[in-house]
Amino acid sequence: MKDKDALLRSLPSVDALLAQRPIQPLIEMYSRDLVVDAIRSTADAARQAILQSQPIDLTAEILIAQVVNRLRESLQPSLVPVINGTGVIIHTNLGRALLSGAAQAAITMAAGAYNNLEFDLGSGRRGSRLTHASQLLRELTGAEDALVVNNNASALVLILSALAKDKEVVISRGQLVEIGGGFRIPAIMQESGARLVEVGTTNRTWLADFTGALNERTAMLLRVHASNFKQVGFVEQPPLGELASLAREHGVLAVDDLGSGTLIDTVPFGLAHEPMIQESVAAGFDLVCFSGDKLLGGPQAGIIVGKADAVARLKRHPLARALRVDKLTYAALLATLAHYRCGEALERIPVWQMIAESLADIEARAGTWAAQVGGTVLPGESTIGGGSLPGAVLSTALLAIDCDAPDGVRAKLRQGQPPVIARIADGRVLIDPRTVLPEQDADLLRVLKAVL
Ligand SMILES: *Cc1c(COP(=O)(O)O)cnc(C)c1O
Repeated sequence: MKDKDALLRSLPSVDALLAQRPIQPLIEMYSRDLVVDAIRSTADAARQAILQSQPIDLTAEILIAQVVNRLRESLQPSLVPVINGTGVIIHTNLGRALLSGAAQAAITMAAGAYNNLEFDLGSGRRGSRLTHASQLLRELTGAEDALVVNNNASALVLILSALAKDKEVVISRGQLVEIGGGFRIPAIMQESGARLVEVGTTNRTWLADFTGALNERTAMLLRVHASNFKQVGFVEQPPLGELASLAREHGVLAVDDLGSGTLIDTVPFGLAHEPMIQESVAAGFDLVCFSGDKLLGGPQAGIIVGKADAVARLKRHPLARALRVDKLTYAALLATLAHYRCGEALERIPVWQMIAESLADIEARAGTWAAQVGGTVLPGESTIGGGSLPGAVLSTALLAIDCDAPDGVRAKLRQGQPPVIARIADGRVLIDPRTVLPEQDADLLRVLKAVL
């Protein structure tokens, strides 16, 4: 083998590679700068390989093929579809809720054609984008008005900034939660200029604790749903209606951050009761906020519903403009809400289709997969995810693959085209059909066959 210096000397220069005939069409197709970048990084990689004494082939054809690959890779968008085999329905790392076909079509419509986002077709004058969702949200939740912002975290920031700046917000010690991604209720309060007043204890808070904290500086009683953990045993929180009544009697606001919230009762699916948006509105809360892309099954958004005067104060605040959502979000949200109004949410919204899918159907799919790629079908559990229904599971059937190195197999599945995200338990690689879209079956089986 030649020594390293000789190899380094035989590495073609950037100019020499650039002058190669197969490179010319690449320059025309892309641009000279992009091609030069790809040649440089190819040469750098070759130099590194030589210095680390790795075997390397420096023929022009091989190097040019590497340049082409690097060009292709550098032009690939980094956001790509994946197959979610984890059985976590609202998987925050994998993009949370999938949109219904109608919601996807609505996004395409809004993206490619002018629309009446802020135009009143009746009068021909300027309209407000805020009107689009408020009608449907009023009908579905029973609230007087609604406002849509970027996400539920920003909904809370807006509510606190607009309505409680330099004032006191009373909250139970059991609800000073961290949602994830560094979103902590006490930090958000501080950022919004509201003063946090904690009452009760970690496990028990009574209405009297709230009453005792009320004074002339109080702006708000805040309830935050403990979305991602569960307290059991000796625990106590005042009933929703009593908290809202207390706020009303004392002329302060009652606000409920539901986190996920749901318009459909989760109990008939064998799940725990996830707080329903309609319940909080009916209990008399002035404002109720929740995510668009958790159990609602729509686009990322923070949805605020409540009393007309409280919502009006939010709309007037400068942050409302800063946190507003775009036409694509409105398009998808309106289509999603329409499913609820038509009573077809379970059939049309992917989150609910997945929750409602029968165990028999899931078993049949896992069985079909096992027949094609090997492995066994095992009973298992899917979860809701997305910080809703902590600890709640749905019975499922898993494709289980016994292998010597499950971590290696899982890593190879992630390199698949498309990447397949699996989980591991008891030394087996597991794939849950509940979160794999039927149209992804062929891709999944192809990747599995290639890896196994
Ligand atoms: C998820 C969650 C949020 C944040 O909602 P995003 O839409 O992700 O910004 C806020 N509060 C609670 C209680 C949550 O569960």
